[in-house]
Amino acid sequence: MPAATPFLEVADALKEYGAHDLDLCYQCSTCTGSCPWSFVEPLNIRRLIRLAQLGLPGYEGEDLWKCTTCASCQVRCPRGVAIVDLVRSTRAMIGETGLIPQSLRSALGSVKGEGNPWNGKREERNAWTESAGIPRFDPKKHEYLLSACCMPSYDKRSRRIADALWKVLQAGGVRAGVLGPEESCCGEAVRKIGDEGTFTSLGKSNAAAFEKAGVRKVIALSPHCYHTFKNEYAAFGVKVEVHHASEIMQRLIFEGKLKPHKKLDRTVTWHDPCYLGRHNDIFDAPRAVLSALPGVTFREMFRHKKQSLCCGGGGGRMWMETKRGERFSDLRLPEAMAVGASVLATGCPYCVNMFEDSRLGLEREDAIQVRDLAELVAETL
Ligand code: SF4
Ligand code: SF4
Repeated sequence: MPAATPFLEVADALKEYGAHDLDLCYQCSTCTGSCPWSFVEPLNIRRLIRLAQLGLPGYEGEDLWKCTTCASCQVRCPRGVAIVDLVRSTRAMIGETGLIPQSLRSALGSVKGEGNPWNGKREERNAWTESAGIPRFDPKKHEYLLSACCMPSYDKRSRRIADALWKVLQAGGVRAGVLGPEESCCGEAVRKIGDEGTFTSLGKSNAAAFEKAGVRKVIALSPHCYHTFKNEYAAFGVKVEVHHASEIMQRLIFEGKLKPHKKLDRTVTWHDPCYLGRHNDIFDAPRAVLSALPGVTFREMFRHKKQSLCCGGGGGRMWMETKRGERFSDLRLPEAMAVGASVLATGCPYCVNMFEDSRLGLEREDAIQVRDLAELVAETL
């Protein structure tokens, strides 16, 4: 923001960037008290909102990119302030002055150049689908586009999740295919980091790819892609039916098309990913799937559903260094072990990645396993 811009004009401009609720906030501080950063290195989101209301006088910038956009504050705000939009808009405005943190610039550069934030080559995006034998989407043959996120293309751990989901979909008789290298990152994190321009070009490019391929229904492996296609792509003219993988698995089991039969003999707890749960209210589908798996004893953690603890990977934090002792995922594994779980199950490649990293810091790495829901279902087939 130019130094000469009057502060009230800055506050008005923020509203144009999307911080529509700025004036609703009456500074009660419920948000700051609800933020998972309060467990480690507090983030005073109330103060940031106040600064935004005043036009960011004296803004120093260090805390804005700490927010994981988890919405723990938002679901508790007594005024219903869309705090995540407020954070996103402030980042977008500040980002235009070039103040986006250095570590995020590399991920953004990769998205702009190669269509993914992992510094992987665009032409390698579909290598895993080819070796897994997943066909290209053909509207005459396939009901669904399988959108598996960028992560399985460039990250081995995430690839195991996508392979498991494909196995489950095949066992359930789902006719699905994937787009070619013309598919790009959905742009969810890009937008939350504050790069609206790149988000718009990703959205337009994916919208054109969906349209050209004749896509009408999408299965999203990641809640971040799910959220974006479902709630944000209408702006690009996309009218597709979007399902998260957990919803499809629940339906296949309910309709008797998928018959989990091998016993798992494990005590499992469910971590609600922020973008599946708090942002999109999908709490029951994954629990229904777990309850249908033979040999699974389900235990709920103290913090669950709307109160679930963020893994720490959203809002661009996946690409930022978070010191040991400040990682929410380090707090979550003991919460899972405290209820006697031998498996922490979830439904998001970001969460799996964060928890696997935290598992390496445990005294005994084998004290708990981290699994995506699709991996557990695939094991029972
Ligand atoms: S909880 Fe809502 S009203 Fe209270 S300070 Fe935070 S944003 Fe403002
Ligand atoms: S969205 Fe999450 S991380 Fe961001 S301020 Fe709210 S509670 Fe804290």
